[in-house]
Amino acid sequence: MKPEKREYDAVVVGSGPNGLAAAILMQQNGLSVLLIEGKETIGGGMRSAELTLPGYRHDICSAIHPLAVSSPFFETLPLAEHGLEFIYPDIAAAHPFDDGSAAILKHSIEETANQFGIDQLAYVNLIQPVVKDWPSIAPDILGPLHFPKHPVEMARFGLKALRSASSVARSFKSEKTKGLFGGMAAHCMQPLTNLSSAATALVLMSAAHLKGWPLPKGGSQQIADALASYFVSLGGKIETSSYITALDQLPSSNAVLFDITPRQLLQIAGHKFSNIYKWQLQRYRYGMGIFKIDWALEGQIPFTNELCRQAGTVHLGNTFAEIASSEQSTWNGQIAEKPFVLMAQQNLFDSSRAPEGKQTAWAYCHVANGSTVDMTEAIERQVERFAPGFRDCILAKHVMNSAQVEEYNPNYIGGDINGGAFDLGQLFTRPALRWSPYRTSINGLYICSSSTPPGGGVHGMCGYHAAKRALKDVFNINVKPV
Ligand SMILES: Cc1cc2nc3c(=O)[nH]c(=O)nc-3n(C[C@H](O)[C@H](O)[C@H](O)COP(=O)(O)OP(=O)(O)OC[C@H]3O[C@@H](n4cnc5c(N)ncnc54)[C@H](O)[C@@H]3O)c2cc1C
Repeated sequence: MKPEKREYDAVVVGSGPNGLAAAILMQQNGLSVLLIEGKETIGGGMRSAELTLPGYRHDICSAIHPLAVSSPFFETLPLAEHGLEFIYPDIAAAHPFDDGSAAILKHSIEETANQFGIDQLAYVNLIQPVVKDWPSIAPDILGPLHFPKHPVEMARFGLKALRSASSVARSFKSEKTKGLFGGMAAHCMQPLTNLSSAATALVLMSAAHLKGWPLPKGGSQQIADALASYFVSLGGKIETSSYITALDQLPSSNAVLFDITPRQLLQIAGHKFSNIYKWQLQRYRYGMGIFKIDWALEGQIPFTNELCRQAGTVHLGNTFAEIASSEQSTWNGQIAEKPFVLMAQQNLFDSSRAPEGKQTAWAYCHVANGSTVDMTEAIERQVERFAPGFRDCILAKHVMNSAQVEEYNPNYIGGDINGGAFDLGQLFTRPALRWSPYRTSINGLYICSSSTPPGGGVHGMCGYHAAKRALKDVFNINVKPV
C-alpha cells in the first residue's frame, strides 16, 4: 500500500553523523526529507569552534576519524566535492612510557610490528587476519546482528574480538606492545577485563593499517558541513534551533527517525510505546562519562619522546596495568589519580587550526557517569609527565565536565559519548532485543543514533541501517547494501 501524502515523507530529528546519514539515504531514494536540529548549528559530535582564543579552532567533540573513512556508507558519498579533505598523519598514534620510549601505530603493519621485537610475530598474527578479512566482515560488524555473509571470517574475528583486552595483552611479552594495545582497547570505555573489550582495539588498529587515522582539514565541522551540503544538493531541507520535546511538534510525515538516545526517546514518545518496549528502554544502561579539555598553546607540546611530537593522537597512560587500573576505578565510580588521557594534536598537520607558530591540543579522560569533578589538574599532570614544560606553553584552556558535555549535547547522557554502555550486554542488542533494533513499538517511528548497532563514533552506519529499515517498512523501497 502506498503511504498517505504528508508534509514530508520523512523527518529526522538530530543532525549528528547518524541523523545526517539517515536523511541522506532517504533523500537519495526519492523521498522528501526534513532534518531537524535542536541546536543553532548542525553536526552533533562533529562541531568545531573557537573555544579558547580568537583564531584557535577546536574540535568540540570528535577529532580523529578512522571510522568515518572506513564507513561503507560515507565511502559512497561525494563528500570531497562538498569541501571535505582528510589529512593523514604518518604516525596515527603514539604511546609514551615513563622511561622516555614510545610505541607507535603506523599505516604499515610491518613498520608497526618491527618496533615490538619479541612480540613482532604475535602482533602480525593478531592483526593481519583482521586487516585481510576486513572487506568481507565490515558490513556484518558495522550493522545489526544477523547471520554473517562470511561466517568463517566472522568467526575468526569473533574469537579474538570477544576476548577481554587483558587476555589478548597477555599474549604479548613486551610492556611496549601491551601498553599500545591497552590504550587502543580503553577507547571502549569499560574495564579491560570485560569480555569483548579487545574488539575496539582490533577495529581501531586495523583501521589504521587499512586507511589511517585522519583528521579533516579545518576541523570535524567540515564532515558535518559536507554531509549537510550534499543532503541539501539532493533537495533535502534542514531546520536548526528547533528542539523537539513532543511528537506533536513535528510536521506530518510517514516516518520519523530519531538520532537521540533511549532516555530522550522515552521523554518524547514513551507514553505511546508498548509496555514491553518502554520497559526495555528504561533498562538501557549508559556508560562512563568524559572530562574534556581544549588548549590554546604557545608552541608545540614538548614531548620527551620525539615520535610523540609527530603523532596525530597520543595516548597517555604508561603501562597496560596502569591503564587497566584507571579504567577499572573510573568504572567503579572512583576518581582516577592517573587517568588514561586521549590527546590529539590536529594543528601539527593542519595549520588552519591556530595562528602561525601557535598550537591547539584536544584531550579527554574517562570519568564516572555524570561526574562534575574537575579533572584539569590530573589531565595536565599526565601530559606534563611525558612532556615536561607543557604547562608553560598554555595560553588558554576550555574545559567541560561530563554534566557540561551533556548540556552541550543532550545525546551524551552523563557525558557518555557512545550513546550507551558498549559492553557485551549491549553490543548487539542496543537499545533493545528486537528483530530490528531500529524499529520502535510505534509503526513509522525509528531510532537511528549511536544507541543502535554498530554504536558510537563518526561513521553514520546506525543512521544508514535505520533509514534502510524505514525505507523497506514504510515505503517498500529495497536499498542495495553498501
Ligand atoms: C569529546 C568527544 C570526543 C570524541 N571523539 C571522537 C573521535 O575522535 N572520533 C569518533 O569517531 N568519534 C568521537 N566521538 C564520538 C562521536 O562524536 C559520537 O559517537 C557521534 O557523534 C554519535 O553520533 P550520533 O549521530 O549518534 O549523535 P550526535 O552526534 O550526538 O548527534 C545528535 C544530535 O541530535 C541533536 N538532538 C538531540 N536531541 C534532540 C531533540 N530532542 N531535538 C532536536 N535535536 C536533538 C543534538 O543536538 C545533536 O546535534 C567523540 C565524542 C566526544 C563528546
